[in-house]
Amino acid sequence: MIQLKNAAQIKAMKEAGRITGEALLVAREHVREGVSTYELDHVIRQYIEKSGAKPSFLGLYGFPGSACISINDEVIHGIPSKKRILREGDIVKIDLGAHYKGYHGDSARTIPVGKVSDEALKLIKVTRESFFAGVAQMQQGNRLGDVGSAIDTHVKANGFSTVRKYIGHGIGKEVHEAPDVPNYGTPGRGVRICSGMVLAIEPMVNAGTFEVRELADGWTVVTADRRLSAHYENTVAMTDEGVLNLTLIDSEF
Ligand code: MG
Ligand code: MG
Repeated sequence: MIQLKNAAQIKAMKEAGRITGEALLVAREHVREGVSTYELDHVIRQYIEKSGAKPSFLGLYGFPGSACISINDEVIHGIPSKKRILREGDIVKIDLGAHYKGYHGDSARTIPVGKVSDEALKLIKVTRESFFAGVAQMQQGNRLGDVGSAIDTHVKANGFSTVRKYIGHGIGKEVHEAPDVPNYGTPGRGVRICSGMVLAIEPMVNAGTFEVRELADGWTVVTADRRLSAHYENTVAMTDEGVLNLTLIDSEF
């Protein structure tokens, strides 16, 4: 069942979203060659806790980190580790959430480490653009198929592929709520978009095949062809006044 949020609940979710977005800005400041994903996770946790919130992902389904940190061909759910050191030319995906006053935020970015390939830069750019193409379809009376189709169409037009096995979701008192928000779909089909819906829209885009597989650690998802993958996510709320982006702090990021 879809839990629609009233104005007071959306106001509370703005706070969780702000902390979530700020934690990503803090993490970005620490992305550089030689830094471990454990160190990134540590600064994220410190920032979220200093803000009076809790990391949404810590312990979620048993996840051991405060953030999912995934490098290059890793799509999502990378486990922070002292052994994973960022290298020049890597792209690193940081996916995190803050739990504050009963509500969660959820947001992800893909960040280049130093100078990266032209393909990596294009992949990051197209993934981000596809999110906004999807959000542009967040209009009263439209359906989630309109959102997913807009995302997938933009990705394919640029020669990349959209991950199908993992998708976006409703969010609120739980990180993962109904409805499912696929990054593909058929225009005019699916759940009707209405005021009070709060969604985590999160295209995961691969340079090669859309197919993915899970590593033996039980968490890390990689591209089946081991080519690059990028991720971009914000928590957005549909209101009578239009769409609010709850986790976007720096409009350029
Ligand atoms: Mg996320
Ligand atoms: Mg999410």
